[in-house]
Amino acid sequence: MDHFPVFMAVAGRRIVLSGGGDAALAKLRLIMKTTAHITVLADDPAPEIESWANAGKLTLIRRAMEPGDAMCAVLFYAANEDDAEDARVAAIAHADGAKVNIVDNLGDSQFITPAIVDRDPVVVAIGTEGAAPVLARAIKADLEAKLPASLGILARIGKTFRHAVDVLPMGSKRREFWQGFYFKSGPEAIEQHGEAGVLPALETLLDQRVASAQVQGHVDLVGAGPGDPDLLTIKARKALDAADVVIHDRLVTSDILELARREAVIIDAGKEGFGAAMSQEAINDLIVKHALDGHHVVRLKAGDPTVFGRLDEELDACAEAGVEARIIPGITAASAAVANIGQSLTKRGRNSAVRLITGHDTKGYADHDWQALARPGEVAAIYMGKKSARFIQGRLLMHGADPATPVTIVENVSRVDQRTIATTLGELEPTLTRAKLAGPALTFLGLAPRDAAQHALQFEEAAV
Ligand code: SAH
Repeated sequence: MDHFPVFMAVAGRRIVLSGGGDAALAKLRLIMKTTAHITVLADDPAPEIESWANAGKLTLIRRAMEPGDAMCAVLFYAANEDDAEDARVAAIAHADGAKVNIVDNLGDSQFITPAIVDRDPVVVAIGTEGAAPVLARAIKADLEAKLPASLGILARIGKTFRHAVDVLPMGSKRREFWQGFYFKSGPEAIEQHGEAGVLPALETLLDQRVASAQVQGHVDLVGAGPGDPDLLTIKARKALDAADVVIHDRLVTSDILELARREAVIIDAGKEGFGAAMSQEAINDLIVKHALDGHHVVRLKAGDPTVFGRLDEELDACAEAGVEARIIPGITAASAAVANIGQSLTKRGRNSAVRLITGHDTKGYADHDWQALARPGEVAAIYMGKKSARFIQGRLLMHGADPATPVTIVENVSRVDQRTIATTLGELEPTLTRAKLAGPALTFLGLAPRDAAQHALQFEEAAV
């Protein structure tokens, strides 16, 4: 972010603009929404500017800018549509101490003006740092359509009512109250009774909510998918949107955590493979404690919570504490990884079953039905299999598996640094060690990428 969005206090302060043509008009239409004192300097102002001056909406000075004109101004716009004149007036404004914007000249401007959706006092500012004005316009149009026109009135009246709502417990109860007000009962009251209907609607809604306030929190055990936020389910997004507390594991990416409600408390309960940063019991206690405090807890787990996710222990802890828990499934790493290599987990005529296995469990390297896994055509997705690769390779070869069996490792599935390594069981080690994997990785036994040549090549490049 090269530009940091802030809302500047301009009430009663000066904003000065040099220019009288179309660019000046466009900017004036925006800044006239404020309560600032506006001064326009123009030799030849457009008729609109003259009529705004006559109506007392701004002060018009009919001449080119001179030193001192931007004295005490907080903001200054150079909108002459003439590079030389804009540079001249910008230099004067700098010297006068104002922050300067030169219209259509991002590089020489100290601030830029966003696209605005105005539901004063609710104002949405949209900026793309000059990169995509079309996008800004599309987002603006979308928001204009989505936000009720009455939102500004509702916000103003709602503000006077904030203290009354203190009777509701903090967190989801209060949030639900305001959501009900802004998006349902408030707009309905305005539609039926105009502005006068808003306060009675607030009072009725509060009475209803106070009556049903003694409700406890609940827990959503949510699958975050393999990393790409676009692979979240809509249910998962809604849960993140509503959460009071988010407790996430180590593999959940920051892009996904960004989607949590801004006020949500975010807790990292990350565990490294083998050793534990936070014990499972401590995590269980944390989840239950926050739910009993009346919060909506989102327990966010990489992939699908039902796959190597220690879900049952958390469900049991909730049940024991009498806390309601709901599972929201996610895309497990194996599903996303096969999508990447263009293969199916099961395939008619090749394998009618697929195993999801773990390289290690709480006791160390995990044992499996090696005999069955060693048979030709078997497919297994091996989770947490980096450290145990040599062990798995040895066991399979010992039970008669063909060393030429394809093996594919996909690291950082669905993330920007995703990497695919195609090898064979015989070569699994040392290939894996040589690949120096840094991120989470999934190993497929019995699957080669559909386009194996391409992936083999990629790896050769990565290995040098
Ligand atoms: N519940 C998760 C799995 C948790 S176990 C799921 O359904 O995907 C952790 C293991 O999952 C990691 O060691 C790795 O083998 C695999 N994994 C999780 N996310 C991954 C990703 N983005 N890329 C590759 N492997 C991943």
